[in-house]
Amino acid sequence: MTKLANTSEVAEYLGVTPEALRQWAHRGTGPRWIKVGAARRYRWEDVETYLRHNTHETGQGALNLTCSVCKKPVRRDGFVGVRNEDRARNGRERKAWEEHKTRKIQEEGEFAGRVIEGDDWRMIPEPARWYVVHHNCHPVGGDYGYEVERVDTFPSFLSMIAHVSEKPWVQQNTDLPALIRRVIGE
Ligand SMILES: [Zn+2]
Repeated sequence: MTKLANTSEVAEYLGVTPEALRQWAHRGTGPRWIKVGAARRYRWEDVETYLRHNTHETGQGALNLTCSVCKKPVRRDGFVGVRNEDRARNGRERKAWEEHKTRKIQEEGEFAGRVIEGDDWRMIPEPARWYVVHHNCHPVGGDYGYEVERVDTFPSFLSMIAHVSEKPWVQQNTDLPALIRRVIGE
């Protein structure tokens, strides 16, 4: 069993001041820590996980986080998410689509399996769109999503994708695959 590390030991290892590490712990941005009585302690494996999650790839390996407003890279002070108003718009369109299908079934019989044609196409609900923005380019205000600093490496981005994919509304009503393709530069 390895001895738990204290703030000074971890700070020294990371090359930051103990005060900086205390601030990270306070803000919830540093390595995971454990409350042992009145003291704060770290598992070295959590420190290593923190380092792995914050390792920035360069060149080919870098994530392509581009602001959908100004088209410049978003490295920090940004957000990856879905706008609340876009979710609401998608909800209205899905409702209209269901009503449209019900009407068609009443008028023409079976809808399922029927070829979508004519006026059906413009009725198909557009998914809510995942965006990446600088805070300065688009004030976020309650939108669903993540601060860019939490998802700007491959492991942390994948972890976010795994998390949000478990939500049925994200799977069914948003363009998550399009976000993934953009971010990996496909
Ligand atoms: Zn921007």
